[in-house]
Amino acid sequence: MAFSERVDRLKSSLIREILAAAQRPEVMSFAGGLPAEPMLPEVSWERMPASIGQYGMSEGEPALREAIAEQARALGVPCAASQVLVLSGSQQALDLVSKLYIDKGTEVLLEAPTYLAALQSFQLFGADCLTVPLQADGIDLQVLRARLQRHKPAFAYLIPTFQNPSGMRYSAAKREAVAALLDEFGVTLLEDEPYRDLVFDEVEARPVVSHLRKSSWIYMGTLSKTLLPGLRVGYLIATPDLFPHLLRLKQAADLHTNRIGQWQALQWLGSEHYRQHLQALRLFYRERRDAMQLALEEHFGDIAQWHLPQGGLFFWLALKQPVDTRVLLQAALARNVAFMPGEAFFVEPERNPGYLRLNFSHVAPERMGEGLRRLAEVVRAEQKV
Ligand code: PMP
Repeated sequence: MAFSERVDRLKSSLIREILAAAQRPEVMSFAGGLPAEPMLPEVSWERMPASIGQYGMSEGEPALREAIAEQARALGVPCAASQVLVLSGSQQALDLVSKLYIDKGTEVLLEAPTYLAALQSFQLFGADCLTVPLQADGIDLQVLRARLQRHKPAFAYLIPTFQNPSGMRYSAAKREAVAALLDEFGVTLLEDEPYRDLVFDEVEARPVVSHLRKSSWIYMGTLSKTLLPGLRVGYLIATPDLFPHLLRLKQAADLHTNRIGQWQALQWLGSEHYRQHLQALRLFYRERRDAMQLALEEHFGDIAQWHLPQGGLFFWLALKQPVDTRVLLQAALARNVAFMPGEAFFVEPERNPGYLRLNFSHVAPERMGEGLRRLAEVVRAEQKV
């Protein structure tokens, strides 16, 4: 059958396969990035007007756009509601931005490691991915400068706050320095911050786009991690030179984001009950983060290194003696433990063995010790082979 050229580039998603295996009730899954089930708030549809069921505007509901813009301005992002595009999950921003910029061979700049589904989207459209390694306080500035001196990427895709997969957060100084570099080389920034509100401390970390003076930018956010992923309500905010193009692409993709989800989002955003829910969420996740840290110290202290994440959903383990973690996964699943192999998050998997992404939001604290004990056993056995 004659499918499009790009379909050949579509790799099967390792995540989907792992999540399917992790569905078995006996499996302790550190693999996904799902919000914890007990923390999904109960929502009511009682006061929803019937007119919400009508077709809506491609831009999104005006009141929701206003609420999103207000929240972004409070973070230091200079924007008006007219720059907000409500999306079917922030994932849709990756699709629209890919369509806007990427032809076969278009260069884009990414962190290594980076978000798997972003990589898939960019590669589907044929991007050449330039990568810059991450350090404990953010992207490696020297390598970034070197890349920009030689290449002119269509945009840089960065996840500066509790990155997926590494859990790392850029320091304030690095945020400013990255913005200065992108301005200097005239590179557009695509900044993705789904985990910003899942924060356990109060360190000042304004979005990188708020430091830009010249470059165009697109800022992505979502209600998936703090409210309900099933609502599929996310958004992008774009500079006025980019917004009309993204709006047209949105229109062509799905006319508009579902209004029922948008209506629900609006009941929460900026409300007192949302503020209280966020506080409860942070305490809940922090407790799980602490439980995982303790269990890791006990079982992985001598075989891996990691940083304590200050928010988000993930630990990122680097094995001192690297093994192919895709092979490791099969052995772990046989012991009813799931995790995400680090290779999946790299453009060059073969050159980056030995990393594991561990989600700390899903498994109950009292079971984490047992899960990580089994996983450590599997690692040790694999290292002996
Ligand atoms: N970006 C990153 C870095 C993510 O981790 C996710 C969710 N896994 C998304 C974007 C997309 O989230 P959503 O479409 O639910 O808003």
